[in-house]
Amino acid sequence: MNPKLLSDVAYLSSAILFIIGLKFLSHPKRARRGNQMAAIGMLFAIVASFIFIWGGGLLQPGSNAGVLIIVGILVGGLAGTIGARYVAMTDMPQMVALLNGCGGGAAALISTVEFANFAAGRGESDPLAFGATLFGAVIGSLSFWGSLMAFGKLSGFMERAITSAFQKFLTVAVFLALIATIVWIGMGAGMTAFYALLGVSLLFSLLMVIPIGGADMPVVISLLNSCTGLAVAATGFALREPALIISGTLVGASGTLLTLLMCKAMNRSITNVLFAGVGAGPVATPGAAGASGPAKTAREISADDLAMLLANIQTLIVIPGYGMAVAQAQHVTRELADILTAKGVDVKYAVHPVAGRMPGHMNVLLAEANVPYEQLFDLEQINPEFERCDVALVIGANDVVNPCARYDKSSPIYGMPILDADKAKNIIVVKRSLKPGFAGIDNEIYFNPKTYMFFGDAKNAIQKLVTAVKAAE
Ligand code: NDP
Repeated sequence: MNPKLLSDVAYLSSAILFIIGLKFLSHPKRARRGNQMAAIGMLFAIVASFIFIWGGGLLQPGSNAGVLIIVGILVGGLAGTIGARYVAMTDMPQMVALLNGCGGGAAALISTVEFANFAAGRGESDPLAFGATLFGAVIGSLSFWGSLMAFGKLSGFMERAITSAFQKFLTVAVFLALIATIVWIGMGAGMTAFYALLGVSLLFSLLMVIPIGGADMPVVISLLNSCTGLAVAATGFALREPALIISGTLVGASGTLLTLLMCKAMNRSITNVLFAGVGAGPVATPGAAGASGPAKTAREISADDLAMLLANIQTLIVIPGYGMAVAQAQHVTRELADILTAKGVDVKYAVHPVAGRMPGHMNVLLAEANVPYEQLFDLEQINPEFERCDVALVIGANDVVNPCARYDKSSPIYGMPILDADKAKNIIVVKRSLKPGFAGIDNEIYFNPKTYMFFGDAKNAIQKLVTAVKAAE
């Protein structure tokens, strides 16, 4: 068979697999299969590229590029496999940031090689390919450095937003320098100008990410992810490589949609996330006296008393959060829910779109514990049910049930739709202390007269509760 036709068929197959894979990812039940299909699609794309390069005779005689590509695939494949196997679920956003940065960096490197070819007068001078090369370089390096910064912020290094008038002025100045460098290159400047462009892009990406707080990093990563997609698609145009154009466009489009959905879930605009400097204020002291009131105290409850309370209820809504993931309390929570369901309690799980540390975090966690999908409800579905609910059991969640999001305009989470746990007849909060969550703010729900704090690591605490509930039978 003609190699060109063969590679085209393989490219088409990979594109179809990517699209079906993405579609499957939209439901937790089929997400794993979707991921596998996309991985097979990538395999097709790699095979297609090899057929394209070798079959098309594009490798220069004596070139060791083929060996280098295989070594690159092996090294990258090994690092990716080890990283994916050993990363903790709670560190997944950092892993995504790193992987995304690699994509952006790869696009910038390809653009550098392509520009070097242009500068040396090799290849045809195609304005589209030239423009795509510059675009890939700028957006790819923005994505690379921005993702590294996001990784650092998510890892706890420089978590807070740093804003100042000088930083804003500097950002605008560097942006103008970026435009000027592009114009300089457009006027025929060579490699020196191109390296300057990469340097200015580095500065610009740092200045863009520094003023964004750690709590907004997932949105930023999603946005950078869409940038990486665009950069990859641009390099696809420069190289005339369909797999890069298709996969880059898919990543760009899905990253943009995810960014907008996350902003909607937090009731924030993307400009607010990028430029408002949310997270630059001081961190709240839990339970401390505010300017207008005395120090508050939270009511504690023991496992036995809690078991007694649960013995007389009809409805329970479990609200999982980041702490459940950290403690790996999903299995024991399922056990508790099974015991209560067997006693006739109507158990439901309320899943907030940004609970945990990555989109879909709670769905993955609960699916891991085989919680039936029919028991999972999203925010809009479950909120009207809290008023009739006997107990809202908040396990390791904090910001997503913080009522100040409804009215406190000075709060970093103001406007974020929350789960209405405070409207339940009784509220049980399982966590280790009164410390704040990701947004770094105090939570009045701990001091609500309907609230009982059940302190402890979520897994141990729920395990104790299961024992107490069984003993009370
Ligand atoms: P939060 O970060 O608000 O709160 C988590 C709580 O879990 C903490 O207050 C902590 O309290 C408790 N906790 C930690 N470890 C344990 C443990 N072992 N056992 C019991 N409790 C524990 O989490 P939420 O899920 O409520 O909210 C998510 C936040 O993260 C939001 O602000 C969201 O914007 C942000 N975010 C969301 C992402 C997403 O895409 N889902 C990604 C990144 C951030 P204590 O220390 O007292 O135990």
